Amino acid sequence: MNVYLDNQSTTPCDRRVLEKMLPFFSDKFGNPHSDHLFGYQAADAVSEARQHIAKLINAKEKEIIFTSGATESNNLAIKGVAEFYKNKNHIITTQIEHKCVLASCKRLEKKGFNVTYLPVDHYGRINLQQLEENIRPETLLISVIFANNEVGTIQPIKEIGEICKKHSVIFHTDAAQAVGKVKIDVEEMNIDLLSLSSHKIYGPKGIGALYRRTTGKRVNLSPIIDGGGQESGIRSGTLATPLCIGFGEACRIANNEMDIYIPKILELQKSLQEMLFNGLDNIFLNGDKDNRIPGNLNISFQGVESEALIFGLKTIAVSSGSACSSGTLEPSYVLVALNIPENLINSSIRIGIGKQNTYQEIEYCANQIIKTIKKLRKISAIEH
Ligand SMILES: *Cc1c(COP(=O)(O)O)cnc(C)c1O
Repeated sequence: MNVYLDNQSTTPCDRRVLEKMLPFFSDKFGNPHSDHLFGYQAADAVSEARQHIAKLINAKEKEIIFTSGATESNNLAIKGVAEFYKNKNHIITTQIEHKCVLASCKRLEKKGFNVTYLPVDHYGRINLQQLEENIRPETLLISVIFANNEVGTIQPIKEIGEICKKHSVIFHTDAAQAVGKVKIDVEEMNIDLLSLSSHKIYGPKGIGALYRRTTGKRVNLSPIIDGGGQESGIRSGTLATPLCIGFGEACRIANNEMDIYIPKILELQKSLQEMLFNGLDNIFLNGDKDNRIPGNLNISFQGVESEALIFGLKTIAVSSGSACSSGTLEPSYVLVALNIPENLINSSIRIGIGKQNTYQEIEYCANQIIKTIKKLRKISAIEH
């Protein structure tokens, strides 16, 4: 049995999503920007997809800008705002953002921006008072990850939104891990910009979106890709119609079925956690026990190197640290920010359960992990 438990890294494309996409590669191949019947056919389908995406976060169709993924959305949000509003030059973000947010901020620092990287507590949450204290007259943007991709911690987004509104600061959130897992309402949460990724919610890879507020306090963005002026001039280039349709279908399914698969994922997560904690001593859950995205477990197995564990678990796909920075020998900066001791950081793995996983798979994984950890601990006891 091969088991995929790395759904924070990517998810399989839902069969229905694939089926919905297929005609748009061949029969319905029109350019959605063309002014003829082939174009209209594609444009209508893209419009419908946009509505499904908007609905998932309570936005309007025209507030959805298609991008190539959350990486591009985050770049566009941060760099786009920074370039448009030249009168302010301070940004507040956190130490546990995805690499693409941190790298975008670093680039802006080279151009003269000041960036505050807020610390987090042991569970991965920012301190709201500290956030407010760090706002200056020249603060333009606050960018806080909705839910972290390594430890799954969910931030107090509604409270952050209130603070941003009170101080007239633009609020961006990277919601790649939260969309389709927790309820998101850009109105209720006062979110101005929100990044989404299709392949994290059972859609195709290579597409995402940026929600941009145009109602109420409208947010302006300078484009980072110039050209034919598609996507309201903010993101030029012919839309990848099949991918847009697939992303829309993935959101439609999430809208309709989240209430069914989220409790199921939570059940599986609870079972796995119980089996592992009952079967092994000296293991620790990283992140927040409660404010956590469904399906995520980040666990340190004391005395065992995560690479050894992953190597030992040949039939099970889990991740050590974040997939984006694995391959480097640096300890995960997210776990460092959570103040996890270094030996436990090097003993941590991330498990991401998805809607396609079954109880049988979870049981198999728990048994395999317990068996492998016991074996590895025995070997290292002999070595020492
Ligand atoms: C996956 C992920 C991204 C990057 O998304 P892509 O669509 O792969 O570019 C950004 N932020 C978070 C939190 C993610 O989990």
